[in-house]
Amino acid sequence: MLYIHVPFCKSRCIYCSFFSSLKHDFKEKYVDCLCKEIAERKGYLPNNQLDTIYFGGGTPSLLSENNFERIFNAIKENFVIKNSAEITLECNPDDLTQNYISVMKKIFFNRVSVGIQSFNDSELRFLNRRHNAQTAKKAVQNLQRAGFSNISVDLMFGLPKQTLQSWENTVNEAIKLDVQHISAYSLSYEKGTKLENLRKSGEISEISEENSEKMFDLLTQKLQNAGFEHYEISNYCKHSFHSRHNSGYWQMADYLGVGAAAHSFNGVSRRWNVADIEKYCSNFSYEKEILTPKDKYNELVFLSLRTKNGLDLQQLKEKSGVESYDFCLSCAEKYLASKKLFITDNHLKINENAVIISDLIMSDLMKI
Ligand code: SF4
Repeated sequence: MLYIHVPFCKSRCIYCSFFSSLKHDFKEKYVDCLCKEIAERKGYLPNNQLDTIYFGGGTPSLLSENNFERIFNAIKENFVIKNSAEITLECNPDDLTQNYISVMKKIFFNRVSVGIQSFNDSELRFLNRRHNAQTAKKAVQNLQRAGFSNISVDLMFGLPKQTLQSWENTVNEAIKLDVQHISAYSLSYEKGTKLENLRKSGEISEISEENSEKMFDLLTQKLQNAGFEHYEISNYCKHSFHSRHNSGYWQMADYLGVGAAAHSFNGVSRRWNVADIEKYCSNFSYEKEILTPKDKYNELVFLSLRTKNGLDLQQLKEKSGVESYDFCLSCAEKYLASKKLFITDNHLKINENAVIISDLIMSDLMKI
């Protein structure tokens, strides 16, 4: 698995705490640096076969055809891209012109993740997104016309002043677009964001937990009725269109992340590149953390319980030992008794009606 971080945006969404820059003067140099890092770090993964490639950001759809060509040449010089590889580009709807989509087709992308968030124009303006509802619909339709058949859209609920009706309308519009995958996140107030400052100054207030739960329930019910499988807390897919790349993270697969602020994992350690474009370009500096047995246990529990497949108890015993297995089951007892957790086929799973409190359940099963 290869992740490529593209830390450039045209404007700043008010809720965003991701690492990205509004200055684009470094873009060409940054692409050169990505290519060099790909060559330098090719030995990080146990083999050179790539099953998934994911361009995330920032806004990867700000890269040009020439940028992509250079990056893919570097990838192909250092790795083998499997014929069946899933190759995803995260896009902003207003970048998806017909010209740009034909470039994406030419450059091997076979999966597109579109950051739509809402089909309500005043909500989009509040979030400081660049597009409106009409642009978002047109972007998806243009992708479909061009032959893309693996499209994901991102949605966001729990916005201040958002009504259940407006959220229902957003979910309905997403279903109507006939996409294969939907990710939906509850708005969170991250430190240092404009959104958090607005809350602190009292200009906005969070919606109630009760309303947020209603929105989540509505989402899950509507999507399940429309044929989507709820395969991870925030992710829904049709048939077998789950994100193979993100599923790899939840299954603790090895991955190499290149670019400023990108993370990598190889089963033994995690490392993360410096979150500064100039520093990144000057020496690819990174920090590294060796995972302790406790870290590995916590990650296994936290990542697998997020998914519909749940936690493989045999795997837990083999990887973390009998003591950790017993610890996990004793912490799970009260949730098993209240049917918030259940065990089937030796897998521990969160019940659909308890997904809303999954953070609490998972943290109760972790070692401090
Ligand atoms: S486009 Fe994405 S990365 Fe850029 S500011 Fe908005 S949310 Fe953040």
